[in-house]
Amino acid sequence: MDYKVERYLGEKVSKELIKNHIFDLFSLLNYFPKRYEFFTLKEFTDNKETQTIKGVIVSDIVIRKHQRNLKSISFKFKTGEHIVSVVSFGRDYLLDKLYPELALVINGNYDKKVFNINAIFINDYKDHIKPIYNFSELYDYQVTQALRKALRTLEFKEETIPESYLKKYKLPSDYETFRCLHFPETVLDINQGKRKLKYQEALIFQLAVNYHIRTKFKAKIKPLAYDLTKIRGFIETLPFGLTEDQKKAVNQLFLDFKSDYPIERLIEGDVGSGKTVVVAIAFFALAKNYQGVLMAPTEILARQHYQTLSNLFADYPIQLEFLSSSVTGKKRAAILEKLINKEVDILVGTHAVIQPDVAFKDLRYIVIDEEQRFGVEQKKTLKDKGNNSHLITLSATPIPKSLAATILQDVRIAKIKTKPALRKKIITRVLNDREVSGLIQKMNEELNQGRQVYIVVPLIEESENLDVKNALDIYNKFKDLFTGFTEVGLLHGKLSASEKNQVTTAFAENKLGILVSTTVVEVGIDIKNATMMVVLDANRFGLSTLHQLRGRVGRNDLQCFCYYVSKKEECERLKVLEEVDDCFLLSEYDLKARGPGQFFGTKQTGFGNFLFLDFVADFKILELAKTDALEILDFYGLNQSESLRKLKFEMQKVITNFTKDDII
Ligand code: ADP
Ligand code: MG
Repeated sequence: MDYKVERYLGEKVSKELIKNHIFDLFSLLNYFPKRYEFFTLKEFTDNKETQTIKGVIVSDIVIRKHQRNLKSISFKFKTGEHIVSVVSFGRDYLLDKLYPELALVINGNYDKKVFNINAIFINDYKDHIKPIYNFSELYDYQVTQALRKALRTLEFKEETIPESYLKKYKLPSDYETFRCLHFPETVLDINQGKRKLKYQEALIFQLAVNYHIRTKFKAKIKPLAYDLTKIRGFIETLPFGLTEDQKKAVNQLFLDFKSDYPIERLIEGDVGSGKTVVVAIAFFALAKNYQGVLMAPTEILARQHYQTLSNLFADYPIQLEFLSSSVTGKKRAAILEKLINKEVDILVGTHAVIQPDVAFKDLRYIVIDEEQRFGVEQKKTLKDKGNNSHLITLSATPIPKSLAATILQDVRIAKIKTKPALRKKIITRVLNDREVSGLIQKMNEELNQGRQVYIVVPLIEESENLDVKNALDIYNKFKDLFTGFTEVGLLHGKLSASEKNQVTTAFAENKLGILVSTTVVEVGIDIKNATMMVVLDANRFGLSTLHQLRGRVGRNDLQCFCYYVSKKEECERLKVLEEVDDCFLLSEYDLKARGPGQFFGTKQTGFGNFLFLDFVADFKILELAKTDALEILDFYGLNQSESLRKLKFEMQKVITNFTKDDII
């Protein structure tokens, strides 16, 4: 049915709307205010100032002509116990609408001398929020009238968003959305309306992206097989119970394995939230049927994972191997041989696992730890070794790029928000270089209780340009300071793999009280007895890295401490770390600081050109919509359900849009 504007609205108004490409009542309703003006009601005071007051007209309306065809209206207005005169210029069109006893809200300047308000805003009693539409030839009140007509005339039978999601997020109906945005009574109305439009846009967008990817690019695979009873048995042997979020992540992984196309999932969990055990369960479940690989960015971390898995699987016939650049010659050749013959179930290693001559027989699932440390190419190389593998990535530092990927590509997210119980918040302080002497005292306290301390320094060599402390210098200094009291170790990237391993092992076994290190300790290392982290020249690091470094401590139930030392003038930026210890929040800070320009080229196909959404500010909505879109695709399918008709129609429009762009 068409609802052409000229059939319902006056000639002058219709003409102006048509000029602005608004041809029917529905598009009129979808023409939203450019902004709102807010008037907060006050009690009338006889101060000379702008006032917004409510009251009633208590006289006839008088119209006067002035020079140059200007007309004014005036009347007496009772507000509270006061009666004031109101005059308004150029608003004679209101004449028909005003009458004695009418309740109004008025905004204007009070002139004490003449006891007179010069009103610039006169409106119904209720709405002291005024939508501004900015048509050049139409007054806002005319637009409002036309909108009122449209809202009364049109029928709103079919929602785009499925009922269950409207309920889930308490979103208003279409009718109510238009009412909220065009005739808001409160700020809450405006927010409600916007929430609906944003979510709707996000859901349609996510459906389109994921439907497109799924139908075009996904290979069909056989669902992976696993034995639930055995898995439950294994989980019971773990030294701790899983947290709720860990359980959820595990369940999500196993749902993924059931799917008939390869799935990529990012497990996002703060440092120390226990991501490793989640993938260990997956490894356990799949090991005897398929091959899997775990890649980590540093040798230390890869070895640690190898050790963890070996311990967990000690009682099971699971074949694990370790590969890094330090594994060479015959040993390496033997591993590669076993790999291609499927005599290895799980390969754990560093970048060494993506070397060209590393080949699997039946690689079906890939885990990449600290995924932010790997480039797109490296991930792809590993994926190409697989047989339409599932890909599981782990990260505590979701960098904007991977955050964007979770929104714009078919990457799913499992969030581990809670940390294992009993963990105490790490006490964090930002110190300037003059406050460091207190640190030695604090180190002594911790060491005296048998605890251990990390000291992180930015670079290992004296650089002429950078005034950076030298790791060796620092190491020597602390060695002197603590002679006869505790041993000090030094760890940096220039050490050979076996040297690194020696130092880390010595620290892990508590043979060293203090470990001076570059950021090679940044990722993953899990040494429970360490309770204190000191980061020198902290200003040289980003917030996410600093947070990640802090995560080296607090892996136990003890009170832990973290000190960021920096030049006085640079402390301010770091202060946020004293309060915020949530990686998601911190990465949002990063995202906000860098802005969306990071993700979208100027002409990125259709992405980022949202009508209502802001990629950065509304990131959460896009995330939710993504989960919902995948749910709709997975469980409802798009073809069967009549209730998804409108959604499918809108989605198709978006797909047509970006495939159109693809061709160019
Ligand atoms: P991350 O998420 O940073 O990779 P890890 O997987 O290294 O964290 O886990 C941190 C520490 O917490 C490990 O020592 C691990 O054994 C322990 N841990 C993991 N899950 C739990 C749990 N549910 N209860 C207690 N400790 C746990
Ligand atoms: Mg980890």
